[in-house]
Amino acid sequence: MNEAELLFSEILGCDRTTLYLDKAKILGHNELAFISSVLKRRIKGEPIQYILGKTEFMALKLKVNQDVLIPRPETEILVETTLKYAGKIRQAEILDLGTGSGCIAISLGKILESAKIDAIDISDKALSVAEENARLNGAKIDFIQSDLFDSLGVREYDIIVSNPPYIADDEIGRLQPELQFEPRIALAAGVDGLDFYRRINLKASGHLKKNGFLIMEIGFGQAGHLVGLFSESNKFKVVETVKDYNNIERVIVAQKV
Ligand code: GLN
Repeated sequence: MNEAELLFSEILGCDRTTLYLDKAKILGHNELAFISSVLKRRIKGEPIQYILGKTEFMALKLKVNQDVLIPRPETEILVETTLKYAGKIRQAEILDLGTGSGCIAISLGKILESAKIDAIDISDKALSVAEENARLNGAKIDFIQSDLFDSLGVREYDIIVSNPPYIADDEIGRLQPELQFEPRIALAAGVDGLDFYRRINLKASGHLKKNGFLIMEIGFGQAGHLVGLFSESNKFKVVETVKDYNNIERVIVAQKV
């Protein structure tokens, strides 16, 4: 849905299609006042998803607030890639590292009915949003508060999936105003934007079963560096990179060797 559709379907309490079919709707005073208050915030750059407190991802309705990153359409490619690998594993055990709103874990949980899914985040506030989203969508996920793998113990998974922070610290201020409303810890990843991949590279193979997969979203222009980082570690071989709708390499799949 585009922003106007999101706003008007909210105000009129209908879905996207009805917006175009039912032309008899006339906005009342309260509805107009609501639009005006939304637009005042939107003009200051606040993302529409935070103003309305909700978004859609993989056809799921999710609550969002400023404690979590707004799920992006590109991240659906990460989920689809993960489904491709998880579909071949019986009762796959999957870890979502840095779950934020829970969008990845919950969509995997809804589709892979026999999978066992754990989801980690460092932020308690993010975890309460993710827990609520799991409940609202009827997904059974075990949530764990942890700084990456630090509090995970000795658990091992078939797949670790992650959309970690991947923006260089000094780049954030130069990006679109909407981003300034999002949690910095969900975005900032050191001077070159690769800090989390380095940390994941150090510990992930210890939490993967034999031949397990590490599947991560990556930022613009990072594929070359990351193929190098993960291949050179001798812990992984890079199986593939997957491009997004803009032809940018967006997902990397590495397999434990
Ligand atoms: N996993 C969440 C998402 O993909 C949060 C990612 C993050 O905060 N970096 O939207």
